[in-house]
Amino acid sequence: MSNTPNPPLPTHALPSYLDPNHLGPWGVYLQQIDRVTPYLGSLARWVETLKRPKRALIVDVPIELDNGTIAHFEGYRVQHNVSRGPGKGGVRFHQDVTLSEVMALSAWMSIKNAAVNVPYGGAKGGIRVDPKTLSKAELERLTRRYTSEIGIIIGPSKDIPAPDVNTNAQVMAWMMDTYSMNVGTTATGVVTGKPVDLGGSLGRVEATGRGVFTVGVEAARLTGMGIEGARVAVQGFGNVGGTAGKLFAEAGAKVVAVQDHTGSIHNDKGLDVPALLAHVQQTGGVCGFAGAEPMANDAFWGVACDILIPAALESQITKDNAGRIQAKMVIEGANGPTTPEADDILNDKGVLVLPDVISNAGGVTVSYFEWVQDFSSFFWTEDEINARLVRIMKEAFAGVWQVAQENKVTLRTATFIVACKRILHAREMRGLYP
Ligand code: NAD
Repeated sequence: MSNTPNPPLPTHALPSYLDPNHLGPWGVYLQQIDRVTPYLGSLARWVETLKRPKRALIVDVPIELDNGTIAHFEGYRVQHNVSRGPGKGGVRFHQDVTLSEVMALSAWMSIKNAAVNVPYGGAKGGIRVDPKTLSKAELERLTRRYTSEIGIIIGPSKDIPAPDVNTNAQVMAWMMDTYSMNVGTTATGVVTGKPVDLGGSLGRVEATGRGVFTVGVEAARLTGMGIEGARVAVQGFGNVGGTAGKLFAEAGAKVVAVQDHTGSIHNDKGLDVPALLAHVQQTGGVCGFAGAEPMANDAFWGVACDILIPAALESQITKDNAGRIQAKMVIEGANGPTTPEADDILNDKGVLVLPDVISNAGGVTVSYFEWVQDFSSFFWTEDEINARLVRIMKEAFAGVWQVAQENKVTLRTATFIVACKRILHAREMRGLYP
């Protein structure tokens, strides 16, 4: 699938709160919008609405540390677009979180939710903190204070947070409890990704990785690639990468290389994925796994493989390593793992990139199921959830594939075409208030 030449990039009206010389992930997102604009027809009239987050809240999050001192952390919640429904998107705890990053992640949530056609807008949140430096009690105080601070803009029908990097079901339970205490009633629908005993959904933990696997299998079928024996490399072996790796291995693929924040490992015969998952559970990372050889982090990108799954952080595949990638297919489990320059290099090499905005939409799809189940307090079986998830992912992917073929564009641009049209159509029908 070849891409048509990209139109020259327009100059953007940037908000004064971003540094135009260091736009970060928001700059990547703006370039993606520029690429899709020529395909939006009359809806292009509304495209500026996608280039400005509707609402961005910055909060100070002070907590008392266990040693009695007071620490302050920067917290964010950004609602990018709510034309199609309430905001929806995860909360990230990471020392490198910035406003630009949260803005971009919130915008990618708008695109993703529209791409799989769940009735949500896009939002995202984060705290600039390395949670590994906090005790469990400190983490709970941080989560509760942050939830209180952003409580003025979240809610089951306003904006529904979920887990992201370094946040999990326990963090969601604290968020749900804090919000519920503040409003005076148990409000399970305020967050998704909760423990199953607190209104969480079966299948949510594995949903994103399952979605990654589902679109990967569909793309392999459409391109004639067999999964049995396919060589897979995974960056990030947490919720998304770990589950995707496990499902590919169960389907007969060989996971030959894995990289995480502790290092990179390699086994040409295929790693024992359940044993590696247990090792990560025990030690916190892939480093030191007995069933593999260590490899240099930079060498990971050139490893001989058919499928590469970036499932860690953004901007990992860049112009510096894209040329070395040997995979025939890249399935983006992480949000924004490929820079636009790297995207072009991969496209020129004929590497099929399944973009984040469709590939990792399985998580938000089951989050949607969780939210629906919470409203009715009626819970579905795991088989029902997985079957509905697979159906939505397959249908959404088939639609994107068709648009890519018709317009001779990459799957990323095709997903943006489908999603932006849905968002802007909603915008147009609702009209501008007042
Ligand atoms: P996680 O915290 O469970 O795992 C993150 C993984 O990335 C870990 O294995 C960690 O070691 C690795 N990592 C961190 N820094 C790294 C570095 N510098 N180099 C290499 N590896 C590094 O997080 P997750 O939920 O699996 O999320 C991973 C990605 O998937 C993120 O981009 C997230 O936004 C995206 N995502 C997650 C979900 C979800 O449901 N969890 C849904 C959609 C998208």
